[in-house]
Amino acid sequence: MEFHFPGGTVFVKSGGITNERVDAIVNAANSSLMGGAGVDGAIHSKGGVAILKECREIRQTSYPNGLPTGKAVITTAGDLPAKHVIHTVGPVFGQNSGNDSDLLARAYTSCLSLAAKHQLRSISFPSISTGAYGFPKDAAAEISSLSIRAFLMNYEQQMIVNLVFFSAKDFELFGNHHKF
Ligand code: ADP
Repeated sequence: MEFHFPGGTVFVKSGGITNERVDAIVNAANSSLMGGAGVDGAIHSKGGVAILKECREIRQTSYPNGLPTGKAVITTAGDLPAKHVIHTVGPVFGQNSGNDSDLLARAYTSCLSLAAKHQLRSISFPSISTGAYGFPKDAAAEISSLSIRAFLMNYEQQMIVNLVFFSAKDFELFGNHHKF
């Protein structure tokens, strides 16, 4: 699937995000930035220790209490084919006093804004919060597509945005619920 906007193009596919050869892949991290399960574990194990080292520095210098939900930071991608990793923290579904949707939208927007700030031209997202963090996949499809759409409607340069689903089933579900 592909969708065209004034500020770029979105490609939706299934696959593993660690194989993406782009300017940045997004990590659905936890606030510790010290690694975890799911996509976070895959990125750190394939990317090597250089990523963790930069995450530690970010914790020490900028976020001693951890990265807040909805924010994003950028590091090297170490041994991965991508150039950078943008780490964001999605909401743990049901634990944000009714603000889950807003926080998920903010996570996507923070990543796109940070990519733009660093003049990156291509970014690949996993499906943030829909694994261990329990966000319903149909609602997440609506929120992620609307956030990306809003960004690309106003972006003055060109960005390639890939949405990488880990299973064919999740890819198909996204196809039935997105709002592009
Ligand atoms: P969260 O804690 O934000 O829910 P998870 O890593 O548990 O993050 O899950 C987010 C999504 O990432 C899930 O849909 C999961 O299937 C997917 N995922 C896990 N590993 C990979 C990978 N290597 N590439 C792309 N997506 C992945």
